[in-house]
Amino acid sequence: MMCERPPRSLRSRLPLTREPPKAAGGRSHAISNWSGRNVFETVVHIVNTSYHVYDAFQDFNAMDLIKINEHPHVRFNPLLREWVQVSPKRSDRPWQGQIETLAREQLPQYDPDCYLCPGNTRVDGRKNPQYESTFAFDNDFPALAPSVPDGHYAESGLLLARPERGICRVLCFSPSHDRTLSRMSGAEIGGLVDAWIAEYVSLAKESHIDYVTIFENRGAMMGASNPHPHCQIWATATIPNEPAKEVASLMAYRDRHGDCLLCAYMKMETRLKERLVFENEEFAIIVPFWAVWPFETIVISRSHIGSMAALEECGRNELAFALKNITWRYDNLFGCPFPYSMGFHQRPTDGREHDESHLHAHFYPPLLRSANIRKFMVGFEMLGTPQRDITPEAAASRLREAGGTIA
Ligand SMILES: [Zn+2]
Ligand SMILES: [Zn+2]
Ligand SMILES: [Zn+2]
Repeated sequence: MMCERPPRSLRSRLPLTREPPKAAGGRSHAISNWSGRNVFETVVHIVNTSYHVYDAFQDFNAMDLIKINEHPHVRFNPLLREWVQVSPKRSDRPWQGQIETLAREQLPQYDPDCYLCPGNTRVDGRKNPQYESTFAFDNDFPALAPSVPDGHYAESGLLLARPERGICRVLCFSPSHDRTLSRMSGAEIGGLVDAWIAEYVSLAKESHIDYVTIFENRGAMMGASNPHPHCQIWATATIPNEPAKEVASLMAYRDRHGDCLLCAYMKMETRLKERLVFENEEFAIIVPFWAVWPFETIVISRSHIGSMAALEECGRNELAFALKNITWRYDNLFGCPFPYSMGFHQRPTDGREHDESHLHAHFYPPLLRSANIRKFMVGFEMLGTPQRDITPEAAASRLREAGGTIA
């Protein structure tokens, strides 16, 4: 349950019995501007991470809006119900920080020392088959085990631990050591989408699996242990933190507005186009209004479906082309193999309906200004609020321009 108490500095100045505003259409009091006593009321709604924030802002019209391309401000992430600091002018500052070196050498199509290439032997002695499309296997060094002893650990209600069962899989995208998503054909990525669906469906059938997370770490900068294009699939007995927050937000938004948050968001962004990078019949790629990472994107299905398994063949192809499109743009942006962490959020597999779920993927790339300057999440971002320098609108514009001719 979210804590809805204002911070101490505000609590001391506010009546503690203040009622939260009523639901949309029934606000108990208006907030007319940012000055005087009303500021406190506004701030209370802002620090409040519930959807009451929308009610607070509905009293402003476009004339009241701050200039989001000029002035420092915070933006609300409705999926996580958190705030992001945006400091538009800060990217002008001189950079004397760390410069990363990216591996630019041409990778071979086959590497005899790669434990993911076809026919090679893995660390545990098992030999990979001569696979010709995708290849999935149980991770040789899993972070989760299918069976762990029952029980729990509890000390004074503060030190709590419980067992977490799970299955960790690895899925190679293709036999080619050098064929990243951006360099695979649409048809090849279509085969990968089919493999993701097969993994999701088969893991969902396991009674102890409540969630399946499919994710790719690309590039050494993101901790990828092997350059051979592959993803990991972690199936867990509980819903992990990030999707759990999203499930709660999607449910809360639907209860309050009678609509799906991501359907409404996707429709608005495809109409406004300012943060839209690419769209096809079935998917839209957007730099979210609340993006934290410089060139972060979200890939949202146009139809309200909970997982890739609900996609028709045409939808699977469109997802493949959308993934090709965004990874191609990323590589073009700074003329380098663009590192990122990406992954899908889909319907939990806990046996409940979860009709609030809406298929989407997040791309979180760390690069900021060039192939060798990355963003660090440090200082205020660890201790306070995540912050970004270039605006999401500027990032979307850069990504739109980085399309070139997609091979
Ligand atoms: Zn390889
Ligand atoms: Zn939806
Ligand atoms: Zn998500």
